[in-house]
Parts: sequence; structure tokens; C-alpha cells
Amino acid sequence: MRVNMHTHSTFCDGKDHPEDMVLTAIEKGFDILGFSGHGYSPYDAECMSLEATVSYIQTIQELKEKYRNAITIYLGIEEDMTCRIPSKAPYDFVIGSVHFLPNKGTPVPIDWDEEKFQRLLKEGYHNDIFALTEDYYRNVARMKDYAEVDIIGHLDLVSKFNEQESYFSFDDPRYLNQVSECIHSLGSSKIYEVNTGAIARGYRTSPYPHQIILTMLKELGASIMINSDCHNRAYLDCAFTETIQLCKDIGFHEVMVLKNGEFLPVDINEIH
Ligand SMILES: [Zn+2]
Ligand SMILES: [Zn+2]
Repeated sequence: MRVNMHTHSTFCDGKDHPEDMVLTAIEKGFDILGFSGHGYSPYDAECMSLEATVSYIQTIQELKEKYRNAITIYLGIEEDMTCRIPSKAPYDFVIGSVHFLPNKGTPVPIDWDEEKFQRLLKEGYHNDIFALTEDYYRNVARMKDYAEVDIIGHLDLVSKFNEQESYFSFDDPRYLNQVSECIHSLGSSKIYEVNTGAIARGYRTSPYPHQIILTMLKELGASIMINSDCHNRAYLDCAFTETIQLCKDIGFHEVMVLKNGEFLPVDINEIH
């Protein structure tokens, strides 16, 4: 079984039209393809406008019908916490993500480029990286009360530019305590995605969340799924083989798959 529930198309900041993505997914043997365009946020230059959201919904629904005999297509959205969607309908699923933190009251992207990240750290947090990460995880934890959110997107996105551990060490207890507080607060109410997007874009060599955090999630009994946060259809299955192996090595036996409107566990050995 092949599944990817986190993909972006030309309706937001992706490179390909959804139909081209569907055709590539079929070619690559995918059984399920979920679209998760960036939900509207006034702070996000790359999100779908409210008008584009209407045609996004219509386009994905048409593709669902057109390709129903070849692949299961789901209509989803990646909601940013700066602007929640009013209800889950008409979406089949919702990914909740934190992409912005405040710099003197104005939300700025944490994952756009490193120069912006450094400016946010300096101006918004007086160069205190743990104040920044604390704020980030506090925002992620807020999603426990957001009923529409099914999936926590890229849990440790705040570490995007930390591949060389130049901002903090991944095993620093100050950092891990913040992560621990966040995931204990969210508990098993949400599915955590293992996200290979930063590998496709050359920022990282391993998926989000970091292996240490994945181990913490395993100990907590959390549910996971594996997505590529695809912005280019060539990377629909980016690093899936290594990532599935990593999850197995950590001890995960199941991944969550959406079936008939419900996320259900599937044996990890059944996916590739
Ligand atoms: Zn995202
Ligand atoms: Zn995304």
C-alpha cells in the first residue's frame, strides 16, 4: 500500500497541477493521495486565497470522481494556526501546522529562509533560541483543543535550519523538555506525521520529527503516518523507504490510514 496525505499543488506553493500529481501518483503505484493546500492566512504569501480555495475544492472533487477507479483521492487542507478554518467540512482531513511566530506582534515564517529565521530569533526573541522553541511548541500544543485537526504537521519544523545543530543540540534537555510537554499535552488525540519534505528540498537528511522525538512519541503510544509534504510531484515518495525503515527500527508497528472517513491503523509492513 502506498499513501501520501500531505501534498501541495499550483493552488498554493506547489509546482504541479493537481491532475498531474494524480497521474504521477498512479504511475508510482499510490493507492491513496491526499491534497492539503495551504489554508488561507493573512500572513502567508504562499497560501490559497479564499477564491482559490473554492476552485481548489471543486478541482479536487472532480479529480476524485474522474480517477475513482485508479486511486483514492482525499480533499484536505493544511491549516496554519494563525488562521483556523471555521469547520472541517468539506474537507476529508485537516493537517494542523505552526509556520509562523510573532516578531514584535507580527507573525513571520519560521521555515521560509534562514535569514528570516535569524532575524526572528534576534528581533523577536533576543537571540534566545529556547525562548523561540518554547513559543513554537506552546503554539503546537494549542492544537489539542482544535477538534478539526486530525494530523499534526511536521512537529519539529522549528528545527528546519538546525541540521548542523548550529542553533541547539537535538538532545539538549531544555529543548526536549519543551517537546515532551507539548506531546504530553496533545497526547494521543492527534496523529503525528513523519514528514520527509525537508529532505526533498535539501535542508535535512532525516525526516521531521527528529529520531529522538520519534522515540518519545513511540514511548507515549502515539499514532503516526508518513507523508512527503510534496511540492513537486517527482518527490511524492521522497525517502519513503528509509523513513518506513526508521519508524520500524524505533518500534512502530502501525501507521494510520484514512478509510471511509476514519483513520485506522494499518500494519507498517503493508506500506512501502
Ligand atoms: Zn507546512
Ligand atoms: Zn505542507
